[in-house]
Amino acid sequence: MPLDHFGRNIHYLRISLTDACNLRCVYCMPENMEFRSKAELMTSAEILRLTHIFASMGVDKIRLTGGEPTLHPDILPIISGIKSIPGVRSVSITTNGVLLEKMAHQLADAGLERANISLDTTDPTEFFQINRRDSYDKVWRGILAAEAAGLLPVKLNAVIVRGLNDKNIPNLAKLTLEHDWQIRFIEMMPFGGTTELQTHQVVTTQEAIHIIENQYGLLEILNNGAMDGEAVMYRIPGAPGKLGFISSVSKPFCAYCTRARLTADGRLRLCLLRENEVDLLSPMRDSAADEDLRKMIAEGIWGKPWGHGLAKGEVPLNRTMSEIGG
Ligand code: SAM
Ligand code: SF4
Repeated sequence: MPLDHFGRNIHYLRISLTDACNLRCVYCMPENMEFRSKAELMTSAEILRLTHIFASMGVDKIRLTGGEPTLHPDILPIISGIKSIPGVRSVSITTNGVLLEKMAHQLADAGLERANISLDTTDPTEFFQINRRDSYDKVWRGILAAEAAGLLPVKLNAVIVRGLNDKNIPNLAKLTLEHDWQIRFIEMMPFGGTTELQTHQVVTTQEAIHIIENQYGLLEILNNGAMDGEAVMYRIPGAPGKLGFISSVSKPFCAYCTRARLTADGRLRLCLLRENEVDLLSPMRDSAADEDLRKMIAEGIWGKPWGHGLAKGEVPLNRTMSEIGG
């Protein structure tokens, strides 16, 4: 396994397939976002070559993200290509769900195992205010299609923004009473220059739990409080589904971080919220050998920063979330 100099095993790679998106979520990108040209982005062959190299170094878990990964025209061959790489144990995706109604079965057939689908509210009007597109019904049908295609467990990601969708927290939680789904509440991370959202609009895990308990009574903590990925899991007593809380701002989980990111333009990003990156695309296009790339990756991972400084008001300025791959 590639180790960083703090001894963390970096075996989980999130690959951004594209920075482009069919939504414009207020916490992620501005309405007039400009996307990169095709020439600036990794080709499918470059994505697969780098994934091979990462896997040869011990990376065994891959998540495809973006931007919106389902917009990539080659997503199906990319999934089946990654699945066939020796050492890769799981391939999942993070998606806004807009295209899942028509793609969920094809994605599962290509070898995709799971999908985390973003759903910030159960209210179509609020959906438009947060996601800036009128796609609520499509996303809902996409969630059902993912479930029918066996992309399980269904995990829904909700980023909560005070003044926009915080009133909907009880309705999102209620989905776990009706479905065997995981609803994961994510603290909004402020990204410099991306939006005009303010730190006071972050709704902390503690606050979200308080709101849910006011409505449904005391929550039951699961797994003795151990993290499931980046979430701490709870349940409304008797509910078939589960609630996850991701406290990136109020209680960062950097000590347990096992991940690195590959941006759509071929940069190895060591921490979501730090600007350190290693350009892999330029050397690859300059005919670097696999061994040279492996060395650059190993050195980059070794120097992975300990963690982020959101609590101290340190916000990364060089890229939006959609460019990095959340
Ligand atoms: N387009 C896909 C989607 O929305 O699921 C994948 C890319 S998106 C950047 C990945 C995840 O990052 C989503 O769950 C999204 O809600 C989350 N995200 C985006 N901006 C965020 C922010 N400022 N703070 C916290 N989470 C954010
Ligand atoms: Fe697009 Fe995902 Fe960013 Fe929303 S969070 S704008 S769906 S990339």
